[in-house]
Amino acid sequence: MTVVTRFAPSPTGDLHLGHVYSASFARDRALGCGGRFLIRIEDIDRGRCRAEFVARNLEDLAWLGLTWEEPVLRQSGRMEAYRAALCRLDDLGVVYPCFCTRRQIRDEIARAGGAPHADAADAGALYPGTCRRLDPAQRADRQAGGEPYALRLDARAAASLTGPLTWIDLAAGTRPVDLSRHGDVVIARKDIPTSYHVAVVVDDAAQGVSEVTRGEDLLDSTPVHRLLYCLLGLPVPVWHHHRLCRDAAGRRLAKRDGDTSVRALRRQGLSPASVLALATRAADAAGSNVPSAGGHDGDFGTGSGVLAADGSGRCTPVPSSGGGSGRRSLNSSITVRSHSGTPDR
Ligand SMILES: [Zn+2]
Repeated sequence: MTVVTRFAPSPTGDLHLGHVYSASFARDRALGCGGRFLIRIEDIDRGRCRAEFVARNLEDLAWLGLTWEEPVLRQSGRMEAYRAALCRLDDLGVVYPCFCTRRQIRDEIARAGGAPHADAADAGALYPGTCRRLDPAQRADRQAGGEPYALRLDARAAASLTGPLTWIDLAAGTRPVDLSRHGDVVIARKDIPTSYHVAVVVDDAAQGVSEVTRGEDLLDSTPVHRLLYCLLGLPVPVWHHHRLCRDAAGRRLAKRDGDTSVRALRRQGLSPASVLALATRAADAAGSNVPSAGGHDGDFGTGSGVLAADGSGRCTPVPSSGGGSGRRSLNSSITVRSHSGTPDR
C-alpha cells in the first residue's frame, strides 16, 4: 500500500521550527518509501485564521524544499462534507445538542464536587453530561427557541455501537480507545459548524492519508478520532506521533516566539538545509514524552458492538436498531451556520 502523509498547518501565524520538524517528518515518512506527501490548510476557525498566512506558510514550505502533491486541501471549503459526517453520526444516535456555556459547565462541575481547571469546558474531558440528560421535549423547545448549541458525541452510546477499539501508533504501539478520560467531546462548536476532531478525520479519509503524523501533543485526540473512523465507516490509518521541538528552557515552541519562525531564520541568512537541521536538533534535544513500544500486533479490535470491523480496520456501520429512546433527528438543524454565534463551546 502506498504510504500517504500530510502536513496540516493552521494559518494563524508564520511557521516556526516546530512546524518545520512536523512537515519534514511527514515528508520523510512518505518519500522514504516512495509514498505521497500532501498539504492541508486547517482554516475552519475563520476568526483566527488569515489568508495572508496561507500564502506565507506555503511559501515557507516551498523555500524549505518540502515539495508536496497538489491540490492543497482547504478545510474552509469542506463544510458540506463535515455536515454530512455529522448527519451520519446523528443517524447512529450518538449525537446530542449541548446548550451549556463554559461558565455553566464549570459551575456544574464545581457543584458535583469536581476540581475543574480552566480548560475543562474546552477539553470536554470533564463535561458532566448535563445536556445528555435533557428530555426530548426540553431539547426540542430550546432548539426551536433558537438557543445556540454545540453538538456532543455521546461517548457511551458510541462505545456500545463499536465495542472495544484499539489504534496503532508506529512509535508507541497498539493502544486501547478509552473514552472515560474524554467524556462527551464537542464535535460541532457553537460558532463553527464542525470541530477539529470531525474535520481531521473526514479530511484525512478524503485525502487517502494512510499514516497520520503529528506532534505528541495531539496524542490525546487520537482515541476520539479512532472512534469517529469506526462510526463513519472510514478506512483506519495508523498514527505516528513525533517529538515536539522545545526551546533551551524546555518550553514547547509557539507562534508567539517569533525568533524561531522560518521568516526570521531566513532573514538571518540561514539556508533551507540549516533550518531543517536546526528543527531536527530542537526535537532531538527535547526527547519524547511518549513511551515507546516494540512494534504492534496489528490488532484493530473487532469488538462486540453493532459496528463490526473488517480485516482492513474499516467498520461497517449499522444504524442502531429501532432508534432507541435517545434518538432524535437533528438533521434538519445541523446546517452550515454563519460564524456570528457566541464563542462559547
Ligand atoms: Zn450542555
